[in-house]
Amino acid sequence: MSKYNAADKLTIARIALQRKHPFYAYLTLKLKTIEKAEVGTAGVDGKGKMYYSPEFVDKLSTDELVFLWAHEVSHLIFAHCELKGKRNHILWNMAGDYAINQLLVRDNVGKFIEGGLLEEKYKDWTAAEIYEDLLKDAENNAQKYMDAEGKDNHEMWGELSEEEQQRVSREWQQNAVSAAHACKQAGAKVPEAFRGIIDDLTVPKLCWRDIVREKIKAHNKQEQTWSRVNRRRQLGHFNYPGQKPGEKVSFMVAIDVSGSYTQEMITDTMSEIYGATKEFEEVTIEVIQFDTRVYGHTIFNQDDGDKMTQYEIHGGGGTCYKCVHDWLVENQKEPSQIFCFTDGYFSPLPDHGLCDTTFIISDGGQAGPYGDSIFYEKF
Ligand SMILES: [Zn+2]
Repeated sequence: MSKYNAADKLTIARIALQRKHPFYAYLTLKLKTIEKAEVGTAGVDGKGKMYYSPEFVDKLSTDELVFLWAHEVSHLIFAHCELKGKRNHILWNMAGDYAINQLLVRDNVGKFIEGGLLEEKYKDWTAAEIYEDLLKDAENNAQKYMDAEGKDNHEMWGELSEEEQQRVSREWQQNAVSAAHACKQAGAKVPEAFRGIIDDLTVPKLCWRDIVREKIKAHNKQEQTWSRVNRRRQLGHFNYPGQKPGEKVSFMVAIDVSGSYTQEMITDTMSEIYGATKEFEEVTIEVIQFDTRVYGHTIFNQDDGDKMTQYEIHGGGGTCYKCVHDWLVENQKEPSQIFCFTDGYFSPLPDHGLCDTTFIISDGGQAGPYGDSIFYEKF
C-alpha cells in the first residue's frame, strides 16, 4: 500500500501528463472523477465522468496511470460511444481499445497497462477498420476480450440516448479543439492522430440549407445587385449564377429515388426550397424523380407550399443520371438551376450545359460528376 490514496495517485499522474503530453492533460480537466469499486478497473461514461476502482488505481504506477488518463479521454474524442451504432458490443469495445492503445504506445504516452489489448498489426488502423477485422473471427476474439484483465470498463457507454450521445460527442470534440488551441499557445504539440479530427472541426462546415437558400436567392431580381458579390465572398468556392434580365425563374428538383433519400428528407428539402422561393415575384418549381427513367413530373408555383411538402416519392431501382439529361432535352427544359438529391452513385457523365447543377448528396454518398456538391445533414 503506497502512502498516497487512489485520488492522489491520479492527480500525480495528471501532473506528469501535463509535463509531457499537455493535450491529453488539458482534456482530463474536463473529466469528473468518481471513485467506485464496482467498476473493477476504470472507465468513462458517455457524459465524460471517469469512474475508477481504488484498488485498481492503487496497483498502477504513475506511468500506467498517465496511460489510463489518455486512454479514457481518447475514447471521448474519438466518440467511440456514439459511433458504436448497431455494432457488436464486445467487438466494438475491443476495436476502440486496440485503436487507442496502439496510438498511445506509438506516441510514448505513459506505460501500456499489461493485460489490456494491444496488437502490432493494428498500428494506425481506425476502430471501424479494426472492428471489421475482428468480425472475421468473432467468437475467438470475443473470448480474448473476456480474458483481458487489464482492460478498462466500457459498460457505462450504453446509458445515453442517441441524441444525448451526439450532444456529448460534439461537446468533447469542441474540448479537443480548445485543447489544441491551448497547446498551440503554449508551443506544445497536438498528437498527430487527433489533427485530422481537429482540422475537420475548425474548417467551417457549410450547411446545405444555407447554400440552397443562397443559390435560390441569387436568382431573385430584387436581391441580385448585392447578393452576387457578397454571397460569393461569404460562401467560399460555390458558384452563384445570377438571373439574366428578362429570364423567367424556374428551378428544377430532381430526386434520385434509388433509396438514398427518404420521404422525410424530401419533405424537409421541399419545404426549404419552397421557403426560399416565397419572396419571388414569379417562380416555378418543377419536380421530377428518377431511377433509370424520369417520372412524377409536377410543376409548383408560390401558392403551392402545401402541395410541395406533400410531394411523394416512390422507391425505384438503379440510378442513371443520363435519363435526366435526356428528359431535359426532350422536353426543352432550361431551368435557372437544378437541385439534384442523390447519393451520387451513378455512371459519371459530362455536364449537360443547360444550366447550373447542385448535387445535394445524402449521407455516405459521393460528390456529383460536375457542378457543385453539398452534403445533406439534418441540421
Ligand atoms: Zn477502453
